[in-house]
Amino acid sequence: MSARPIAVVGASAAGLAAAEALRRSGWRGPLVLIGDEEQLPYDRPPLSKQLLHGSWEPDRLLLRTRDQLDPLGLDLRLGTRATGLDAVTRTLTLDGGVGVPPLEQGREWGRLACAGVIIATGVAARTLPGADGLAGVHTLRTLDDALALRAGLAEAARRLVIVGNGVLGCEAAAVARELGHDVTLVGRDPVPMAAAVGTEVGELLAEEHRAQGVRMVTGAVAGFAAAEDGAPARVGGVRLADGSLLPADLVLLAIGSAPAVGWLADPALDTSDGLRCDAYCAAAPGIYAAGDVARWDHPVHGRPLRFEHRMNATEQGMAAARNLLAELAVEGVHDPGDTPAERRPFAPVPYFWSDQYALKIQAYGLTAGADRVETTVLDRAERRTVALYGRDGNAVGVLAAGVPPRQIRALRAVVATPVPWDEARERVAAATAAG
Ligand SMILES: Cc1cc2nc3c(=O)[nH]c(=O)nc-3n(C[C@H](O)[C@H](O)[C@H](O)COP(=O)(O)OP(=O)(O)OC[C@H]3O[C@@H](n4cnc5c(N)ncnc54)[C@H](O)[C@@H]3O)c2cc1C
Repeated sequence: MSARPIAVVGASAAGLAAAEALRRSGWRGPLVLIGDEEQLPYDRPPLSKQLLHGSWEPDRLLLRTRDQLDPLGLDLRLGTRATGLDAVTRTLTLDGGVGVPPLEQGREWGRLACAGVIIATGVAARTLPGADGLAGVHTLRTLDDALALRAGLAEAARRLVIVGNGVLGCEAAAVARELGHDVTLVGRDPVPMAAAVGTEVGELLAEEHRAQGVRMVTGAVAGFAAAEDGAPARVGGVRLADGSLLPADLVLLAIGSAPAVGWLADPALDTSDGLRCDAYCAAAPGIYAAGDVARWDHPVHGRPLRFEHRMNATEQGMAAARNLLAELAVEGVHDPGDTPAERRPFAPVPYFWSDQYALKIQAYGLTAGADRVETTVLDRAERRTVALYGRDGNAVGVLAAGVPPRQIRALRAVVATPVPWDEARERVAAATAAG
């Protein structure tokens, strides 16, 4: 058994899945799970849905309770930030939080030499100049973010301006309308979610948001105006580049995110858009990555991809763990028992969902960056829709809104690997005709 630990950096969906998979796959050495948030690992998708709405409380978001974590024998270091990694020696530098006990005896404080490292640090919300320190301006990435926005929405009839009409902005708009607030959704692109799902599906979503009373505005944000009640540090509106002012009591910035790679300065690592990995999720020998932060060579799609999707975080966490152990077995650091595993390329069928009002949107494969999209509206009033996405003559993605689960499963099979366009169209038609 190795005296050196495996360290997983990032104690959320991908990091937890990796830690659990390491134990399931037979790692009996020390295992350190490091996260800079104070909370036990929790689930993020409900932050913009049930938690924001107020129908769920924070404890319902926990991915595991303390009792469920205990059998893993983790050295769990919450409130602890990783500040550096020497990729060659696999040594992490940690900024221990207040009250965090020192690392094991004999180790230099703050430095952790590891047998292997899995990086699962996710992404951080982007913000805009002028937003810092302005009360009433929010982002929505963490539990604390969501609780702060929820507290703002607890007051009656607020004017909420959401900057960014992507998936997150649309979900928050839906919740805020359900709570009875006055909602303006601002996007540079006139069609919401267009980058993720294409123009036609985006238009259908726009119809639904308008029908629910959301005001849609196209424009770029130039800055913020202060409140007129003599509170200069409180937001009073959002200024657009054309000079117009959108009055606001609350502002949500939903303008995308940046991979949390700032702490990885080692030139051996490519961090230009997330942490670049090979098909096995390896960024360097003994260093793997998973989840929103990882950009890896997808073996089926033949190019580097990075997804900010919940299911990918779990699946990639498990894959990175298995592949790291296979590598450590070859190095003689891990005893694989009688059945040594080989590293396997990570080749998932990408999946994401979004909930807006009563509508569930689900997508498999690649929907962004398509050069061809065919949208079939099954029921306009209900917004029941199926769309097929193509690239270079093949169908590579499919999206369904308001479609029953059995049909969704059949649609997944259509794009599990790229399929010639005409064949995919027939299979989609058959799947959705099946009732
Ligand atoms: C509001 C919201 C709604 C979403 N809804 C959906 C949805 O409907 N469907 C869907 O498919 N996906 C959804 N997602 C995306 C999904 O939640 C993410 O894909 C998933 O959480 C990624 O998990 P992760 O573990 O890779 O990263 P994260 O969940 O971002 O976790 C990374 C962790 O690492 C920590 N960390 C960062 N840097 C360091 C460091 N240097 N040292 C220590 N710790 C560090 C972070 O604080 C964080 O705790 C949503 C995300 C959000 C924010």
